[in-house]
Amino acid sequence: ENLIEVKNLKKYFNVGGGNTLKAVNDISFSIRKGETLGMVGESGCGKSTAGRTILRLYEPTEGEVKFEGQDIYKLSPGKMKALRRDMQMIFQDPYASLNPRMTVTDIIGEALDVHHLVNSKQERKKRVEELLDLVGLNPDHATRYPHEFSGGQRQRIGIARALAVNPKLIICDEPISALDVSIQAQVVNLLQDLQRKMGLTYLFIAHDLSMVKHISDRVAVMYLGKMVELAESNELYDN
Ligand code: ADP
Ligand code: ADP
Repeated sequence: ENLIEVKNLKKYFNVGGGNTLKAVNDISFSIRKGETLGMVGESGCGKSTAGRTILRLYEPTEGEVKFEGQDIYKLSPGKMKALRRDMQMIFQDPYASLNPRMTVTDIIGEALDVHHLVNSKQERKKRVEELLDLVGLNPDHATRYPHEFSGGQRQRIGIARALAVNPKLIICDEPISALDVSIQAQVVNLLQDLQRKMGLTYLFIAHDLSMVKHISDRVAVMYLGKMVELAESNELYDN
């Protein structure tokens, strides 16, 4: 059963002088419930733009994205806001996406507040501590600020924030590329564990094909805005 179906999706940018950049140029694919679909391709081939358009962080130029059968681009702002709970994103640079002036409690708490998931300050605190524990951070560090954590720990905060709302789909956009090589495997393992534990579906964007093959059920290859291949991981050749 498919969680999400992408049909003839296009996202063009106007880049000045009347020129159009076809960042995503007519891609179609679906992701099954509980699946990890890897997406690889060289820098600039449209992976990040595809991910952002699928979450409707960008409006599409053309095409359709159905999430559990609903075309997300046809939803009213209110319904879209509700759906944002189901579709979360983990970004490449956890530092850039975490507000440096907010404590971890407030960063994660904000996600809980937006979707009215807690009813009291105590419940909010307790839920934040549970989430920190889930991603392998010390719950006692909830009152700290992002700069007081290492890069890998900051990515764990980003993961906790994404998980706070109990999403179904997570788009991981180069989630380990900005991290020290020595801790990349830990973060990948954490994402895999969480997937099993919570029944998540992933679109996993990265440029390291061997890592992506290792964690994905299927892998999509992007080239110049097109999806040029989509295959079972074990049927995809390296290089
Ligand atoms: P990838 O994630 O595969 O590295 P991107 O989706 O970031 O690729 O970028 C695809 C192409 O679209 C690149 O040429 C990039 O410069 C361009 N692009 C991405 N975002 C924008 C934007 N907001 N405005 C104009 N061009 C963009
Ligand atoms: P990433 O590949 O992680 O998205 P980039 O440095 O390519 O990082 O892009 C950072 C931000 O700038 C993104 O929001 C991207 O969509 C946007 N962007 C990328 N290329 C362009 C461009 N040519 N013009 C405007 N915005 C762009």
